[in-house]
Amino acid sequence: MGTVVEIKVSIDPARYSQARANDAINKAFDEIKRIEEVCSVFKDTSEISRINRLGKDEKLEITGEVFNLIRKTLDYSERTGGAFDITVKPLVDLWSKAKKANKLPGEGELKDALERVGYKNIVLDEAAHTILFKKDGMGIDLGGAAKGYATDRAIRLFKDSGIDSALVTSGGDMYCLGKRSAQEPWRVGIRHPRIKGRIFLEISLKERAISTSGDYERYFILYGKRYSHIIDPRTGYPIGDDIVSASVISADSTTSDILATAMCIMGEKGFGMIRDLGGMDAILVKEEAGRLTAKMSKDIRKRYDISQEKL
Ligand code: ADP
Ligand code: MG
Repeated sequence: MGTVVEIKVSIDPARYSQARANDAINKAFDEIKRIEEVCSVFKDTSEISRINRLGKDEKLEITGEVFNLIRKTLDYSERTGGAFDITVKPLVDLWSKAKKANKLPGEGELKDALERVGYKNIVLDEAAHTILFKKDGMGIDLGGAAKGYATDRAIRLFKDSGIDSALVTSGGDMYCLGKRSAQEPWRVGIRHPRIKGRIFLEISLKERAISTSGDYERYFILYGKRYSHIIDPRTGYPIGDDIVSASVISADSTTSDILATAMCIMGEKGFGMIRDLGGMDAILVKEEAGRLTAKMSKDIRKRYDISQEKL
């Protein structure tokens, strides 16, 4: 997935053999690879690429897995007021062309791409398990949800094989299953957005996912300005450079992945949504006049053991 996947499993040797644990870990890696094959927009044979070849009003029957994942993203498009939108692909393509050509997209191109964006132009048929685009030239990009989904699937496999303690990290998406040991919880860090090798926040989590999205992993510079790979589907432009990163904690990694991307677009307004959804928390890092600040959802420290360094 163009990303590093790390899996840690902790077992009680009296109950579980090393060989069985290795087998479960290999299966989890295979599952993550399988999901990449299904979701990649770069592979012509992927299910997503097949969807992306559809013209207006053409129906395609898709697997239950992809159907459910797309439905979940559409649900969160509603909840985020369109900030998270997998139909952003024409804009992603336009900005990646701009990056390669080292030239900003023209107004006409932007307008044309924007017209082909909009999650409401996806029609899912629950009974027939088909997808349809209401416009020509549409496409979907699951880059903002697939790594979280892959993480959830890996955790599912561990649970099914009786492993009750694991930490799965796929790029910016992590899930903490159980505890690291009888005494210690899994404790994970959020990297400092500007200083390599430094952690700015540590948090102990159990049966919880945390995802971080932001401008410091993947971005490009054009005419001296930093452009993020996260695009606001409503304006057609990459997010502004005041938002550095957003982390979201929730019960599953797919949701955290989606909402971390959405929070980068929504900024502080996203905290209201996180509160209303319930059972979730968010940490937003902003840069204002050259100063980094971290804002967190109310009472997060009451729910989690957090240690934080200066930004
Ligand atoms: P990363 O892949 O770096 O972990 P994210 O989870 O934030 O970061 O996903 C970013 C990817 O999501 C982009 O590379 C793009 O493929 C896609 N994307 C960009 N903007 C949006 C958006 N507004 N809604 C949904 N997906 C988006
Ligand atoms: Mg994401």
